[in-house]
Amino acid sequence: MHEMSIAASLIGIVKEEMAKHGATRLLMVRVRYGRLTNIVPEALQMGFEATSMEAGLQGARLELVEVPLTVACGGCGNEFTPEHDDIVYMPCPKCGREFAHEVLTGRELFVDHIEAE
Ligand SMILES: [Zn+2]
Repeated sequence: MHEMSIAASLIGIVKEEMAKHGATRLLMVRVRYGRLTNIVPEALQMGFEATSMEAGLQGARLELVEVPLTVACGGCGNEFTPEHDDIVYMPCPKCGREFAHEVLTGRELFVDHIEAE
């Protein structure tokens, strides 16, 4: 379960931002995570709850937004979202090519928005 360490680094980023703006109470954090990060939202929620409590930021809401996986076909350049999350086998709907696609989105993990006062 890597969600606990992810939660810890998220809280680290949030604390830095809050310090910059002189905020002391955290209300909400929005995090965007890609399909390929293998994050389990429930586990990250739990990790966030525990970590924010430890950091004295209890009561903050974590909003998770999933970024879908999109790839560009290595053969024809067609951009598509694979039907399944199988990164190894994802045939291009246009030309049928099954491999060597370029991943465009789906690997990201970042703090998108922080609400604090
Ligand atoms: Zn193609």
